[in-house]
Amino acid sequence: MTNTESAPGPTRKSSARTATTKAADPSSIQVRNPGTGEIVGTVPDETADSVAAKVRELRLYQPEWEEIGPEGRKVLLLKFQDWLFDNTDRLATILQSETGKARVDALIDPSFSADVIGYYARRAGEFLADEHPTPHSPLAKVKRLSTVYRPYPVVGVITPWNFPMAMPVMDAFPALAAGAAVLLKPSEVTPLSALELAAGWAEIGAPPVFSVATGAGATGAAVIDNVDYVQFTGSTATGRKIAVACAERMIPYSLELGGKDPAIVLADADIDRAAHGITFGGMFNSGQVCLSVERVYVEAPVYDEFVAKLTANVKALRQGLDGRVPKYDVGALANENQTAIVQRHVDEAIAAGAKALTGGKRAGFGTAFEPTVLVDVDHTMSCITEETFGPTLPVIKVADEAEAIRLANDSIYGLSASVWTGDKERGARIARQLDVGAVNINDVFANLFSYALPMGGWRLSGVGARWGGAEGVRKYCRQQAITTPILPPAQKELFWQPYSVPKILLAVAAMRAAGARGIRRLDLPAVLKLRGGNK
Ligand code: ADP
Repeated sequence: MTNTESAPGPTRKSSARTATTKAADPSSIQVRNPGTGEIVGTVPDETADSVAAKVRELRLYQPEWEEIGPEGRKVLLLKFQDWLFDNTDRLATILQSETGKARVDALIDPSFSADVIGYYARRAGEFLADEHPTPHSPLAKVKRLSTVYRPYPVVGVITPWNFPMAMPVMDAFPALAAGAAVLLKPSEVTPLSALELAAGWAEIGAPPVFSVATGAGATGAAVIDNVDYVQFTGSTATGRKIAVACAERMIPYSLELGGKDPAIVLADADIDRAAHGITFGGMFNSGQVCLSVERVYVEAPVYDEFVAKLTANVKALRQGLDGRVPKYDVGALANENQTAIVQRHVDEAIAAGAKALTGGKRAGFGTAFEPTVLVDVDHTMSCITEETFGPTLPVIKVADEAEAIRLANDSIYGLSASVWTGDKERGARIARQLDVGAVNINDVFANLFSYALPMGGWRLSGVGARWGGAEGVRKYCRQQAITTPILPPAQKELFWQPYSVPKILLAVAAMRAAGARGIRRLDLPAVLKLRGGNK
């Protein structure tokens, strides 16, 4: 079912220009509601100079932000969390206006954001506490060892358009909790929610350690030229360019890139649950989730039953543009490029012999595309080999578990996967054979709501990971090693010049005794040298 209502959301500085993205004024970018085509805002297309100036300002305030420590930062981060709760309805409306999402999908962003902030605000103190590892050998016990986590001063966060608020928050706020200052470069397609975040940060009276630079790829490149660490989420093609740019500057980076996540449905699965879960996994946010289910492999004995139930579920989805009152399950796609990719994948599949059991065409408003189930697809089709990032679920029949695993692993990507089975042990065993960064058994996206787990892609799906408990803030820190003497200071250490050969040989023998095994511990040549050696 497809329907549209008047587009929600504020029209900020809207103008009558008809350009798709770049406004006639070269220094600004128009933002459109992709469900209606209406212009909903205009933002600056920031230059390299403007980005450099923002980073200079962040560098001024960052030391104090680091200095107040995790407990000081917690107060402000939780205040910001309150601001999110107080403004959820308004923020969801703005977010809906720049994405064409269904209201329920739009409401998820602010609440999810608040949850991530709460987790890192409350735990950063524990995660960033100095560590005092045990010395590796008795000889090293003369020192107290400390590992200290000190933030990269300015972290650049570059985000895509699928979750205009949650994506920035997922990465920017752990970095803030770590004590870094953050410059966020949101997608030029959906910059309005990010600007709201910056406005909220100022409104709660937090120091100016979080700012936003709007613009397209050139603005993103300028961010990389100025910051000390880059966290990027987006396409694999852009991720590769970012890795090269970071390598030129010798700065670290973490990339979350494309995916083509498989779902494996085994004959012993609860087919009703699998059909509902995979419908959600493929259609949530119109399929524009990095972890979306994009390929389904079903064991032959349950194939017909699964396909019938999946098709019925997908057909029943209500699609449209709702206002403030949630009415629909699926909205529009974020932009026209995305719709063109989805249409091409579907058209190419059908031309090569696939069938659309439901959907298969544009939904009749804005960029929206109908939720689609494809069957009779094979592993050469673009709907299986390329990331679609839209509301399509291609389904393939497999003979057995081994074929499902082989086909699931036959991809350039490796973000996540799901396994549907009545036997949890079997699911866990299969998970260990899949070349992906996360596996959900009898569920989708569950890892996304578990900040204690790392979320990272394998293969061309990424480098590094976000979250993972303590790692989620430590990644934004440089590790510093500090040694402090335990023994009272002597005038001169054993190894210091001028050398006393017998003493040095004794020390070397002791080092060897501590580190080696068996007879090699004795270091006989050294002992012999010691006997006949000079003093
Ligand atoms: P999409 O084309 O689907 O929007 P991208 O991966 O190209 O996905 O974009 C994700 C983010 O990366 C956006 O914020 C975009 O402006 C930014 N970006 C694009 N090109 C570059 C680049 N060369 N350097 C830095 N950021 C870039």
